[in-house]
Amino acid sequence: MTVRVRFAPSPTGHLHVGNLRTALYNWLFARQNQGTFVLRIEDTDLTRSHSRFEEELMDDLRWCCLDWDEGVDVGGEYGPYRQTNRLNLYQAHSKQLVNEEKAYHCFCSVEAIEQERQVQLATGQPPRYSGKCRDIPPQKASQRVKDGATAVVRMRSRQGIVAFQDIVFGSLEMEGSEIGDFVILRSNGTAPYNFACVLDDVLMKITHVIRGEGHISNTYRQVLLYEALGFQLPHFAHLSTILGKDGTKLSKRHGATSIDEFRQHGFLPGALLNYLALLGWAPRQEGHEILTHEQLTAEFDLSRVNRSPATFDWDKLNWVNRSHLKKVSPPLLTELAIPYLQDCGWIPLEPSPEIKEWLEDVIQAVFKYLDTVKDVVQETDLIFRFDPEKDLSDPAVQEALSKKGAVEVIREFHDRVQGHQILDLETYQGVVSEVKERTGQKGKNLFHPIRVALTARSSGPELNKLIPIFEKGQHLNLPARITPVKDRVQAVLDHLHDYLRNQPGD
Ligand code: GLU
Repeated sequence: MTVRVRFAPSPTGHLHVGNLRTALYNWLFARQNQGTFVLRIEDTDLTRSHSRFEEELMDDLRWCCLDWDEGVDVGGEYGPYRQTNRLNLYQAHSKQLVNEEKAYHCFCSVEAIEQERQVQLATGQPPRYSGKCRDIPPQKASQRVKDGATAVVRMRSRQGIVAFQDIVFGSLEMEGSEIGDFVILRSNGTAPYNFACVLDDVLMKITHVIRGEGHISNTYRQVLLYEALGFQLPHFAHLSTILGKDGTKLSKRHGATSIDEFRQHGFLPGALLNYLALLGWAPRQEGHEILTHEQLTAEFDLSRVNRSPATFDWDKLNWVNRSHLKKVSPPLLTELAIPYLQDCGWIPLEPSPEIKEWLEDVIQAVFKYLDTVKDVVQETDLIFRFDPEKDLSDPAVQEALSKKGAVEVIREFHDRVQGHQILDLETYQGVVSEVKERTGQKGKNLFHPIRVALTARSSGPELNKLIPIFEKGQHLNLPARITPVKDRVQAVLDHLHDYLRNQPGD
């Protein structure tokens, strides 16, 4: 059997993580079986569908490198792939079902149906169509339609068990009489989801329907439609709902949910997909969780997908992203970081090759502290922004300064630094040795005050990495001037004098 799967989003909003996981599982299943991945746009809800969401969701999928073989933009043998371009198919098949008396015209008004629903809800019954128009003789009904009466087409549901096998959830069944007669064609000629979906899945020769658990209740209706149309059921695999850590359905409250937000936050697409793959599935080899696209494709196993709800865990996503970031080449990571630094106004819109080369050193100095690319802003702040007046008042810096001998180290460091025109790494290390000798301080007691003297901060990347960055950076034409080391130490000492003068009892 040639595997054909589809991802069938409705362009009624942004793609969220649940949708993306569905797309991913479909894509992985297609690729590992040398199958076909179809992208179908389910836009028959005319009031809520917008073409901008269609564009956006395709951009999101492209960003994630989830490519499709058939779809609205690339075409394919079983198109069109946008449901509003397939209305004639739905209308023709609904007509056929009416002719076969498997479906019928219903003339009940929207208001009447709503009233019926309210009464059923109030009396604790499941809302279901009463069947009022079920027995109108077909000729009479067609005549009313010809005469211009407004009508929908309803599928006749049946008594008895409606059942299907699900790859994830096993045997599922429901009593047919609980389903009620449901609409397959609206009065405006569009088809609701269930009918359009079944016809498209059949006509597009879909072999496996992989989608969210929320669609299980629809699947029973769809099974009735497959029966009525005389088609064989595809394989179904429903994916458990993704919950937030508090056990409720993932929503805005839990942080970013649209794919674009993850992109803006600086998550790598490969890491996001790696993490989403783990929401409901685990590789056979325990602890072997950081996987590339290729590894995921080789290892993913639909039959091992878990039916219990998956919990979205930001800490784990950060960890997965961090692990992927560590494998990104320095030039690429620099390119990824540039837009964030530009947003801060720290580097020019068109950085010169020298600036890019220097930025690569900057990024390499901080890359092990990054969870996301956007973290580059926070981690390089101490390189681009030097503000002793503000930063020295930080309690952690104050604490470092209050250590015995700390101020003396800074004074010594200041005095030694003044004698050098250029402070390259070697010179700096020589200066540090002298300060060590003169003050008798070592280890933390030596380097902590030197860090404060250079950055006015209490923590940050290795000083050995920062020195060349400051030295080279001061000569570059950057919107955010990189303060030279001598000026830094001088400014820190000046502020320190003010600070010391204001200390009680000094
Ligand atoms: N348009 C439906 C949705 O976005 C597709 C469901 C399905 O895959 O059948 O939920």
